[in-house]
Amino acid sequence: MKQFDVIIVGGGLVGASLALALSKTRHRVALLEAAAPPASGPSWDERCIALNAASQAIFSALGAWEELAPAAEPILSTHISERGRFGVARFTAEEAGLPALGYNIPVRHLGGTLWRLAQGTEATLLCPARLSGLRLQGDGAELELEDGQRLSARLVVAADGAHSAVRQMLGIGHDSRDYEQSAIVTAVRPSRGHQGCAYERFTPDGPIALLPKPDGACSLVWTVPARQVDAMLGWSEAEFLAAAEDTFGERLGRFTGLGRRNAHPLSRVMSERLTLPRVLFAGNAAQSLHPVAAQGFNLGLRDVAAIAEILQDAQDPGAAALLGDYENARQADRERVSQFTDRLVRTFSNRLPGFSALRHLGLLAMDLAPPLKQAVMWQNLGYGHAPRMAREGQG
Ligand SMILES: Cc1cc2nc3c(=O)[nH]c(=O)nc-3n(C[C@H](O)[C@H](O)[C@H](O)COP(=O)(O)OP(=O)(O)OC[C@H]3O[C@@H](n4cnc5c(N)ncnc54)[C@H](O)[C@@H]3O)c2cc1C
Repeated sequence: MKQFDVIIVGGGLVGASLALALSKTRHRVALLEAAAPPASGPSWDERCIALNAASQAIFSALGAWEELAPAAEPILSTHISERGRFGVARFTAEEAGLPALGYNIPVRHLGGTLWRLAQGTEATLLCPARLSGLRLQGDGAELELEDGQRLSARLVVAADGAHSAVRQMLGIGHDSRDYEQSAIVTAVRPSRGHQGCAYERFTPDGPIALLPKPDGACSLVWTVPARQVDAMLGWSEAEFLAAAEDTFGERLGRFTGLGRRNAHPLSRVMSERLTLPRVLFAGNAAQSLHPVAAQGFNLGLRDVAAIAEILQDAQDPGAAALLGDYENARQADRERVSQFTDRLVRTFSNRLPGFSALRHLGLLAMDLAPPLKQAVMWQNLGYGHAPRMAREGQG
């Protein structure tokens, strides 16, 4: 049986980032990924991911930013509005004293780069390799792969996504909420320049977001009621672009150049446990969020930075005290971000009379009250409860 100190189950964005981070420690690390690269992982699709400033700092600390930067478009400002209302919340990089609020990067480039960098380290990458069995013992865990291979580890990190197989194998419960919405993700080319601005516009059916891409196009994330998705995917290009323009408004002019459309059903899935003896959960396996605030991967990457920091000098990476440190380090951040995201979805989709006026006041207050704005901005940049790696790589 092959022995490792740490086995990471799942080589999506979070697992691959963790393999890279832990390859800089003394531990013998293995990464298991069920899907064969380069198509690896449900997250390696047409999407772009908005990385916040803390994530950029973490990738700098991991030595990955130089490779990521050429494909990443800086987000210089954000513009948040509500359809049919005048209130607007604006945030700029200048106010934050940063070169950019974040960076919009294609998932394929991000995932591909992380895998390539991880391949150049001492970490053992097993792919395709699907975990099929897991048994915990006092001082470690025994893992079985679908092809019959057996491995052992002193710590198992579950980074196997929202429907975590590790969670199911260990009988850990989860709290889930189906938003009955789907996000249609594609790209459009607006007739006016995006100037590095990320727009999000709330509508009663869900938010529509346009994020800047390097080639002058924008990635479009359009949240719609689940029951409308099939019809919208079947619309002609002209019908889809006209409807997107109508929902988004005129700020960026006319849309052309529609990309491929993919739909993602949206739900929130929170694991009931962050750790149990010899196991910890990270990324979507720990918490999977609605993309409205572009926080899911950013939060998962802070899980990664915390794990790397806690295991840095550990003799036994699965020691109970370290798992306790991880819970303490991550609990407040995950609760705050998941509650903030959930509240945002529910507040803006509430159609009760009077709610809209309150939401409107909320947006205006944000534009007018500098301390409130600073607090929200700090949280969105990812510095609210950031691990050391994010704070040190900052700026
Ligand atoms: C429309 C949309 C837009 C988004 N935009 C943003 C954004 O702008 N910013 C942001 O921060 N976040 C965003 N997110 C969230 C982000 O995509 C996720 O948080 C992130 O991809 C989660 O990565 P993960 O590695 O934890 O999980 P996953 O991507 O689900 O990866 C899990 C991996 O585990 C593997 N696996 C599963 N079971 C096994 C097994 N038994 N054995 C071995 N391997 C296994 C899978 O093949 C997969 O590769 C968005 C999400 C959506 C849906």
